[in-house]
Amino acid sequence: MGSVLDRVRVRAAPSPTGPPHVGNAYIALFDYAFARKEGGDFVLRIEDTDAERSTRESEEAILQALRWVGLDWDEGPDVGGPYGPYRQSERADIYRRHAQQLLETGSAYRCFCTRERLADMQKLRGAQGARPGYDRLCRGLTPEQAREKLDAGTPFTVRLKVPLEGQTGFEDLVRGTVVFRNSEIDDQVLLKSDGFPTYHLANVVDDHLMKISHVIRAEEWISSTPKHVLLYQAFGWDLPTFIHMPLLRNQDRSKISKRKDPTSLLWYREQGFLPEALLNFLALMGWSTGDDREKFSLQAMVQSFTWNRVKTSGPVFDMQKLEWLNGEYVRSMSAEELLERILAEPYTRRFDQPAEKLLQVTRLVQERIKRLAEFDEASRFFFEREPYEAADLIPKKHDAAFVRDALPAAHALLKDLDDWSAEPLEGAMRDAAEERGWKRGALYMVLRVAVTCRRVSTPLFETMQVLGKQECIARIETALDWAEELT
Ligand code: GLU
Repeated sequence: MGSVLDRVRVRAAPSPTGPPHVGNAYIALFDYAFARKEGGDFVLRIEDTDAERSTRESEEAILQALRWVGLDWDEGPDVGGPYGPYRQSERADIYRRHAQQLLETGSAYRCFCTRERLADMQKLRGAQGARPGYDRLCRGLTPEQAREKLDAGTPFTVRLKVPLEGQTGFEDLVRGTVVFRNSEIDDQVLLKSDGFPTYHLANVVDDHLMKISHVIRAEEWISSTPKHVLLYQAFGWDLPTFIHMPLLRNQDRSKISKRKDPTSLLWYREQGFLPEALLNFLALMGWSTGDDREKFSLQAMVQSFTWNRVKTSGPVFDMQKLEWLNGEYVRSMSAEELLERILAEPYTRRFDQPAEKLLQVTRLVQERIKRLAEFDEASRFFFEREPYEAADLIPKKHDAAFVRDALPAAHALLKDLDDWSAEPLEGAMRDAAEERGWKRGALYMVLRVAVTCRRVSTPLFETMQVLGKQECIARIETALDWAEELT
């Protein structure tokens, strides 16, 4: 175990093999919170040992997305640091040297089995009902036999010599003791025949050389950890502390996957989720503040961070909850800030509009949107007349005749109204309804549809104020024509 006096150093270790994943942000968030709380270091390491699937575009997108959610790191491929390089593809020599060391101490062996032989063996094991894994043929080669193959230039991998008996375990900070029987651990490949390391070797070597004190990763890696523990032992290194975070799950409790829920951080950004809301939501998935608070900032999380409140039950990624939380953030900021953020991304096409009008519209729409990308749809009628059915003008429990009474009456009154602000507008319409014995709501509904082209809209009179007298009167006149045709 690393001593408590050791400096806290954690790392996020994404593999750049696809779009930035919510799981990347989720784990990085816990790395960040813990490192900041402890005054330690947060390292970002790129695990691109899978040369076929790793790309620079993916790496850049991941770093950018992590910065977008509001995280930063002290060391990484983009910021440098004393333990670099931070990209595994640039550390090939280091891994080869370490594999060599394991060969020399007898903790690993060369495996000369061909791909074909391994495939046949796997088939046979399957047929016999044995667990998948290597049958350890080459572990039995004498030093002479191995030397002969090596001298003949036979390609080989390097495998870990897992003890055949006994157990390998570790203490997980949030789960307690986790133990595996060695008989269930495969003689894992450490170095591939092309000389590149597998995840296991590169991960362990780097965590050691980068002085990582706490390995924080998703639950799905638990079964890899005993292999890592064996590697630490083989090298004679101290173990870091392991923390396996509960996996994010779909509603059906399967591991979160893009077939059921969007998993790309880019999608969340496009949809207008606020990074701070998304982080808050991811924090809630695995952790609680201890006082039932659901909305809290990253700073607040850092201040009160403790592993004691990590939940180990698989949290369900509840999109409705995320939308709700996002809506809370949308409503808690000033209209000025909201507009600024809508324009910055941008989430709107309305650049041609005067800033003052955009701000007024934002004030009204703010209550009704949960995601910033909803802005244009929610506010379209402020900028253009939308099509609607003439029949929409008829309020519930009323008929066309009512529309033909109410609309001309409203039109006549409004045309002569000088102060076009919400209060006098409302006063005039309320009086009109009262005098004529109409239901207020019915009159407002006719007016709402005429003016906003929708049956559900932002508050009517404020909306009319923002639209302005001329535009409102023109829309009411169009509705008057439509009302003529109503039967
Ligand atoms: N590269 C692994 C991943 O993408 C890292 C797992 C670990 O943190 O050890 O999740």
